[in-house]
Amino acid sequence: MTLSRHAIIIGSGIAGIASAIRLATKGYQVAVYEANDYPGGKLSEIQKEGYRFDAGPSLFTLPEQVDDLFRLAGKKPEEYFEYEKLDVTCQYFWEDGTKLKAYSDLNLFAEEVQNKLGEPAGHIREALQKSAFIYDSLSPLFMNRSLHKLDTWTNPQAMKSYLRMGQLGIFSTMNEANRKQFSHPKLVQLFNRYATYNGSNPFETPATLNIIPHLEFNIGAFFPKKGMHDITMSLFKLSQELGVAYHFGQKVQKVLVENGEAKGIRITGKDHFAELVVNNMDMVNAYKTILKEEKQPKLLLKQPKSSSALIFYWGIKRDFPELDLHNIFFSDNYPLEFEHIFKRGTIYEDPTIYLNITSTHKADDAPEGCMNWFTMINVPNNQRQDWDQMIAEAKRNIIHKLNRVLKTDIESLIEVEEILDPRTIESKTSSAQGALYGNSSNNKFAAFLRHANYSSSIKNLYFCGGSVHPGGGIPLCLLSAKIMSEMIKE
Ligand code: FAD
Repeated sequence: MTLSRHAIIIGSGIAGIASAIRLATKGYQVAVYEANDYPGGKLSEIQKEGYRFDAGPSLFTLPEQVDDLFRLAGKKPEEYFEYEKLDVTCQYFWEDGTKLKAYSDLNLFAEEVQNKLGEPAGHIREALQKSAFIYDSLSPLFMNRSLHKLDTWTNPQAMKSYLRMGQLGIFSTMNEANRKQFSHPKLVQLFNRYATYNGSNPFETPATLNIIPHLEFNIGAFFPKKGMHDITMSLFKLSQELGVAYHFGQKVQKVLVENGEAKGIRITGKDHFAELVVNNMDMVNAYKTILKEEKQPKLLLKQPKSSSALIFYWGIKRDFPELDLHNIFFSDNYPLEFEHIFKRGTIYEDPTIYLNITSTHKADDAPEGCMNWFTMINVPNNQRQDWDQMIAEAKRNIIHKLNRVLKTDIESLIEVEEILDPRTIESKTSSAQGALYGNSSNNKFAAFLRHANYSSSIKNLYFCGGSVHPGGGIPLCLLSAKIMSEMIKE
């Protein structure tokens, strides 16, 4: 095959790599320009003094989105990338000593909830059936197609969604729906947490987002055998085998546009030309920098951003057999915690703590008898708060809470520490305000207020990644690459 057409991709986030694979399989000669000196953007890793941490994402759902890319290239996925289904998707801890295991086996989970909280098992089954119903009704429309093309709205799948519209939770909030569904406040809190999977507020976001538990419970939560970073590295390897060229440490300064058509990019005064340009950089910052001379989509740019995160990567010199891969230590006041994040721009003194410990499943991620704690809380996005002061206070509160629940002295066990906060998320990946998932989904029109996967004013300019349609999180980022590439002719 002669490669005659060139494509340039700006950024090697997971959607950038997936786009590179898809375009390479369409016969394009692809070059990726990446500002960092490593691939993966948010999906990277940290190694320090015998500990390994996945730097960003820790929960892996819809693994077939990754497998599809290997198959598309004619390869066997299992020869590149291996993962396992988790038996326990998450462990939940409350300060009053309640502890709940979310088993992937729904009967076991329903039984656990009935035994520990007295919630009828049937409530869990009903909730997960509703979640599957929303997924079945909306995924063909919102996840797999461009919302900005007429045929999306006129195809038979769309008709199915229109007919079901009244049952999809558009007109109530996630919290309202969960309060109707469950009688125990702890279960309402547990199911409200799914709003944080795309950086939203359960007290505002529509109940349509109750689609998310379907992914984790009905389909499953998975763990890549070599850690989350292997999603990046295995796809990076595949793309290189397909001939994709990577240029690291290359910060793109401008998209070259001539007569309404993208022609290439500029880096430190040097121009690189291509028939196609795909932007994987956060679209708010893209319009501020590499597209600053172009027409600005003002309404889209001013949409509120999702929440951000504060993470302490701690090397802990002790084993805690009671902890698993995913552990949540809930706040005693969830409404107030979200009010702090989304209304006050501050961090609540009793935050919900997420502890991800990959050494429970991948022993060499920590020295023997030790654990690698990825200790994360949801925080507001960066509005130039006094982060140094807020981080110091949050660290004290996190340690006190973990000490109370685990009855230990964490501070004396921390032998390695790294910190990621909204400012460094923004500086390392160029995410506007350090938001994890682009725009928040706190209103019912949010899905329509994300940028399309193509430019309506510049020909041959396309977009992928967590800040454009269909949204943030690994599976949606991979789908953005798919939707984008399906718009491009072979
Ligand atoms: P990004 O990862 O945002 O990368 C963009 C890339 O573009 C970067 O490498 C950047 O350097 C590069 N770039 C930017 N500007 C330029 C330029 N001018 N020139 C060249 N290169 C440029 N998702 C999940 O599915 N599960 C989770 O559990 C989960 N948890 C998360 C926890 C944290 C702490 C974070 C930060 C994110 C989490 N996410 C999770 C979200 C997920 O990581 C993102 O949605 C996804 O990785 C974003 O990928 P992307 O393709 O949009 O690119």
